Amino acid sequence: MKPEDLIRPEIRALAAYHVAPSEGMVKLDAMENPYPLPPAMRRELAQVLAGVELHRYPDPRAPKLRELLKRKMGVPAGMEVLLGNGSDDLIQVLALALARPGAVMMYPAPTFVMYAMNAAFSGMRAVAVPLREDFSFDADAFIERMEAEKPALVFLAYPNNPTGVLYEEKDIERVIRACPGLVVVDEAYHVFAGRTFMSRLAEFSNLLVLRTVSKLGLAGIRLGYLAGPPAWIGELDKVRQVYNVNVLTQAAASFVLERLEVLEAQAAQIRKDREALKTELEKLKGVTVFPSAANFFLVRVADASATFEALRRQGVLVRNLHPGVKDCLRVTVGTPDENRILLTALREAL
Ligand code: PMP
Repeated sequence: MKPEDLIRPEIRALAAYHVAPSEGMVKLDAMENPYPLPPAMRRELAQVLAGVELHRYPDPRAPKLRELLKRKMGVPAGMEVLLGNGSDDLIQVLALALARPGAVMMYPAPTFVMYAMNAAFSGMRAVAVPLREDFSFDADAFIERMEAEKPALVFLAYPNNPTGVLYEEKDIERVIRACPGLVVVDEAYHVFAGRTFMSRLAEFSNLLVLRTVSKLGLAGIRLGYLAGPPAWIGELDKVRQVYNVNVLTQAAASFVLERLEVLEAQAAQIRKDREALKTELEKLKGVTVFPSAANFFLVRVADASATFEALRRQGVLVRNLHPGVKDCLRVTVGTPDENRILLTALREAL
């Protein structure tokens, strides 16, 4: 028996999500926060984790962690949150729950590839509406297409990955109002954008806000959350794997969220360094820098694959988006030292 006899064609057509080996590299490919927790805090965390009961199943409802997240992340009173093993997990929950036969998932493109992958996993039909040339959002075109396709599920990354562009708030609002289905505003990068729909959840019956702690500085623990009206969250909760957030993640997240100001200070530093990096990138000849409200930049160069390889030879790992996003690389904002290394290597590579 061969896999192709049984594996669904839409799965065989997919490429596995690519994670490049990064050992020994200046790692600027995955929008991570480059700063570890301060040493004293790590020691205290180690003690907390030492007390975790690894022989017991996690509490599947994680009530304390959910309450803490709601309080710290500005989830409005009366709204509920669903926890995920990263926000990737919650994208999958949404797709599985809404994938009636023939159901459509829609998003502007290019965007985060997990939306399309989960459409394939769940059997939804994916409809990608192109962004404009400058990667701004054409709300009129999107709304017109929604009228034809009647999507059950729309993903809007706010700001978008891999472009960094933050769409106009009024355009998002128009999409939510015009959409016959559920709109998920994915705010993975909200700490760097300072804009959110969280506070506006109660205004719409078809809006959910998706967040992650990954970009904030906890990518390794895998924790995402989906906020919205309890009626929606209650239904989606049935699709979630019961023990999707493990005991170590629950304990570590609770510990760090109580000290959120440490991560917020790191994010403020990254926002400052983003502006400095932008100024320097813009000085490079042959580089177009797109505006970013996130912790990374999309840059267009003459030959993205050649530049990517030249950077890699110099020990700098970025993300090559070519040919999907023509001649573009995505570079994460690192520490000031890492940003300097990137700029030096780029000058050499171009
Ligand atoms: N949404 C967007 C827009 C992203 O860019 C990412 C990560 N690259 C995610 C969601 C997933 O984040 P995580 O699974 O780490 O929570």
